[in-house]
Amino acid sequence: MAEERGRRFDLSGRTALVTGASRGIGAAAARAFAEQGANVVLMARGRDEIAALAGEIGRQALAVPVDVTRYWEVEAAVGAAVEAFGRVDILVNNAGAIEPIAGMEEVDPDGWGQVIDINLKGVFHGMRAVLPAMLAQGHGTILTVSSGAAHNPLEHWSAYCASKAGAAMLTRSLHLEHGSAGIRAMGLSPGTVATQMQKEIKASGVNAISRLEWTDHIPPEWPAVALSWMCTAEADAHLGEEISLRAPEIRQLLGLVA
Ligand code: NAP
Repeated sequence: MAEERGRRFDLSGRTALVTGASRGIGAAAARAFAEQGANVVLMARGRDEIAALAGEIGRQALAVPVDVTRYWEVEAAVGAAVEAFGRVDILVNNAGAIEPIAGMEEVDPDGWGQVIDINLKGVFHGMRAVLPAMLAQGHGTILTVSSGAAHNPLEHWSAYCASKAGAAMLTRSLHLEHGSAGIRAMGLSPGTVATQMQKEIKASGVNAISRLEWTDHIPPEWPAVALSWMCTAEADAHLGEEISLRAPEIRQLLGLVA
């Protein structure tokens, strides 16, 4: 089965914060990180979902309800992580939203702004909150889940595309400012993944992505393998860059395809 494929890495003794850990890619990444030995801090608004996942993972997991649009909540979660596990080694900026999907002439301005608040400001909030601790310890990995939409416009996705383009620039800015201080910044563009977000895209019916078959999407366990690998020195050749999980050579390297 595709879900069972993929290499494993040693993340023991490290503490990883994962935003958007209540479902989809974030939940898969949190599970995978914990299986590979990391302590995980699960952050999302869905408190019941992250509490259930933390219970399933066990003592290595801490659930902290967080809305990434509120800086003070993100900052408090970093504090809770340090208190529980003594350190913060990895941040996965994964929380994201795509709705409202609508034309620029009619989209609700507040909803448009909320996508920017989650996908762009939320990523900045995560980076800003972990940097003092990571810089003090002289190392840290900050991964941000990007998208092909960061680089190409798609109809009725102006908020999503603009927010992802901005988040990709945050990764490059972070690498420029703190790459030499041991902060490993990278983006992952996963391709299309079978999650709630693709259900919302399918229901909209507006562009080529919405017309894909469900079987065209990769399972969320695939980006989880890629994110795990990106936490290791093996991925150091890609620091400051965005890695595409559509690339056949990356899929092969990660043991996801033969
Ligand atoms: P998903 O299943 O809809 O998950 C989105 C996650 O983001 C949920 O855990 C959600 O949790 C969280 N979230 C949303 N707003 C939040 C907020 N204000 N504060 C905290 N958490 C928030 O979708 P997914 O596909 O796994 O998406 C994960 C990431 O992958 C996103 O950044 C997305 O843009 C990116 N991506 C996905 C695809 C794809 O094809 N699925 C392709 C490229 C990139 P709560 O609702 O509980 O807060």
